[in-house]
Amino acid sequence: MKRFPFDKKQIEKIIRKHPTPFHLYDEKGIRENARKLLAAFSWIPGFKEYFAVKANPNPYILKILHEEGFGADCSSLPELILAEKTGIRGHEIMFSSNDTPAEEYKKAAELNAIINLDDISHIDFLEKISGLPEIICFRYNPGPLKGGNAIIGEPEEAKYGFTREQLFEGYRILKERGIKRFGLHTMVASNELNPDYFIDTAVMMFDLMIEISREIDMSFEFVNLGGGFGIPYRPEDRPLDLEYISSGIKRAYEEKIKGSRLDPLKIFIESGRLITGPYGCLITKVLHKKNIYKKYIGVDASMANLMRPGIYGAYHHITVLGKEDAPADRIYDVTGSLCENNDKFAIDRKLPEIEIGDILVIHDTGAHGHAMGFNYNGKLRSAEIILKEEGSFQMIRRAETIDDYFATLDFAGL
Ligand SMILES: *Cc1c(COP(=O)(O)O)cnc(C)c1O
Repeated sequence: MKRFPFDKKQIEKIIRKHPTPFHLYDEKGIRENARKLLAAFSWIPGFKEYFAVKANPNPYILKILHEEGFGADCSSLPELILAEKTGIRGHEIMFSSNDTPAEEYKKAAELNAIINLDDISHIDFLEKISGLPEIICFRYNPGPLKGGNAIIGEPEEAKYGFTREQLFEGYRILKERGIKRFGLHTMVASNELNPDYFIDTAVMMFDLMIEISREIDMSFEFVNLGGGFGIPYRPEDRPLDLEYISSGIKRAYEEKIKGSRLDPLKIFIESGRLITGPYGCLITKVLHKKNIYKKYIGVDASMANLMRPGIYGAYHHITVLGKEDAPADRIYDVTGSLCENNDKFAIDRKLPEIEIGDILVIHDTGAHGHAMGFNYNGKLRSAEIILKEEGSFQMIRRAETIDDYFATLDFAGL
């Protein structure tokens, strides 16, 4: 059973001050998890996790992670500014974008971020904007050489990255232009729970870097293995065994990298979901019960607050507060109020009998939850609240108001 470090009484206390719906994060859980990740990969020289800002773009969360030693993986101008405002600068920022506007490269260069180019044509594009920085990374798209999965799709169909041939050409160009420090990046997984997938990716990247460095007579400073580490959304899922992944990568590192010209190669990752996903949940109240051809539970959150179930049928576990141990002997669809029939948090879900006014905990919304929110149908994004280490709670983003929704409109000009 999924648990969260609070009880009904605590939630009721928060609700008296901050009405539902809201996302609630667990600072202690996030910090402990961050330390566990660093411990698992501590053998790697210069190991760094660049937290994928898009997963949870809240400065309070970024600051916690920065305090734990993480950098930021940004892919837009606002994300770069968010990192900057949080005090994350220089090589603690990795900028991995695609279809990049000039001003974004300009800002990334100004912050001295590590820039990860998505296409070979961006070498000239970037050079014109800011000149080439001293260290440059390319994003690799292995195409048919690597299988995908359901969420990320097949690499061959993905718009990202360089082909294998372009990598050789690209590094040759950089070398001719006097660049001496190089990185290589890939991102070929999404919510992947098979640990071998990450080991295989590392092996693929080590082999490729060895080949490139031989052919072009250059070396690499780091490899970035991307994000995509899965989390157990379903109660029966098992969390990824980081020690297993780490020891698999270590074996390959010792075999291929140790003693080669790439030694000591740094390894980076840029995980989002794995870091904060399990340490957030969406708290929502039951407004209505409806019995037609099916039984519906209508809540005060909608897919504007959590889009994953609506857009890709993602499973998010649901707990009815105070009924944790009651038998799940009812079958409900749990819905929001958006005028879209896929605004459902759960379909045919076995749950205990639910009454109007019950509080539901929709689990694992700490990554790609609030962040994906939108305003379709006049829906407003919810607040974010954090349960601090010492047990108090703090609002770290207020809920949007109708005035926020109207802020970009020109009523005066009517
Ligand atoms: C979305 C994204 C990530 C993070 O993905 P998770 O599934 O949250 O680990 C990392 N890198 C890039 C380039 C991304 O687009």
